[in-house]
Amino acid sequence: MKGKRIILMGPPGGGKGTQARILQDTFGIVQLSTGDMLRAAVKAGTEIGKTAQKIMEAGALVPDAVMVGVIAARIAEPDCVKGFILDGFPRTIPQAEALDAMLAERELSLDAVIEVRVPDAMIVERITGRYSCAKCGAGYHDTFQKPKVEGVCDVCGSTEFIRRKDDTAETVATRLQAYHDQTAPLLPYYEQRGLLKTIDGAAPIEDVTRQLVETVAG
Ligand code: AMP
Repeated sequence: MKGKRIILMGPPGGGKGTQARILQDTFGIVQLSTGDMLRAAVKAGTEIGKTAQKIMEAGALVPDAVMVGVIAARIAEPDCVKGFILDGFPRTIPQAEALDAMLAERELSLDAVIEVRVPDAMIVERITGRYSCAKCGAGYHDTFQKPKVEGVCDVCGSTEFIRRKDDTAETVATRLQAYHDQTAPLLPYYEQRGLLKTIDGAAPIEDVTRQLVETVAG
């Protein structure tokens, strides 16, 4: 499948990252996670990383101008020609408007905006239990998605795992608030344009994947 441009929306810890990775492998379209990009920038100690670090640890949003610059540079890379899945961007109306302008400049458009809907009550447990492989980034969860062999990554065999600094019970409330206040207004923004599709993200991972694959393929 070629040229699909999809936005995955949903609360923090709602499974967007996990599902975006699966869609990337299923459809061969690249996952663009602004959270991953910022975490890489923090690790590398770049200017953007320095700006973002404290904001991310507090669970607030990084300024729009920074994020628009990050995604504009990424979308211009050759692997995005075949399409992309945006995971974590846009998160505000100004970011969505900037994305529209970027796509229009290239005579491109969005194929779908998919909301992975998960009730707030499920988010704390999902976020505080999650971790990932330090080597390949595969995602796991203490309760919902354990590796097949304890302590060994299913994908690459590594035995090192990491937890995100912002995946704490204290930060979840701020991140959820940011989602409801600043990101949820994007749902009507895209619905008005006939782009919004909503799937049930509270279901088990495989069911969410099935719904998503059907939505993207259709
Ligand atoms: P995520 O990995 O998508 O949960 O993002 C982790 C953190 O990175 C967020 O809590 C924000 O601080 C920051 N971030 C990621 N994407 C954006 C964005 N599009 N706009 C503002 N902040 C962002």
